[in-house]
Amino acid sequence: MSDCLFCRIIAGEIPSKKVYEDELCFAFYDIDPQAPTHFLVIPKAHISSVSAIDAENSAVVGHIFEVIAKLTRELGMESYRVVSNIGEQAGQSVFHLHFHVLGGRDMTWPPG
Ligand code: 5GP
Ligand code: ZN
Repeated sequence: MSDCLFCRIIAGEIPSKKVYEDELCFAFYDIDPQAPTHFLVIPKAHISSVSAIDAENSAVVGHIFEVIAKLTRELGMESYRVVSNIGEQAGQSVFHLHFHVLGGRDMTWPPG
């Protein structure tokens, strides 16, 4: 989608600090980190949020979690949080599915 910020990041039209890329997904550091380590993992296919996941497109989600396990291992992150905000009330500001991976500090529960 040409008007989607994250599709434009995947296409290289907007620069990002890449962590990882393969045929299905792209990972890059968040521009406004909320923890010492904070990156996003996104599918290359445009999916607007978790609420748009269905039988046709759900395989990429399992793949993304495999990638998260691999990247956090490589980065030496033993404890971390994976978050996906769905809808404006939950704090979603970019409507291309993304999983925040945050680590390197104590976390509180419940989240705000
Ligand atoms: P959301 O608020 O939708 O859960 O998460 C969107 C995230 O994208 C935010 O944490 C925000 O800081 C990050 N973000 C927004 N624009 C850019 C950008 O241009 N580059 C990068 N690397 N991150 C961005
Ligand atoms: Zn998109």
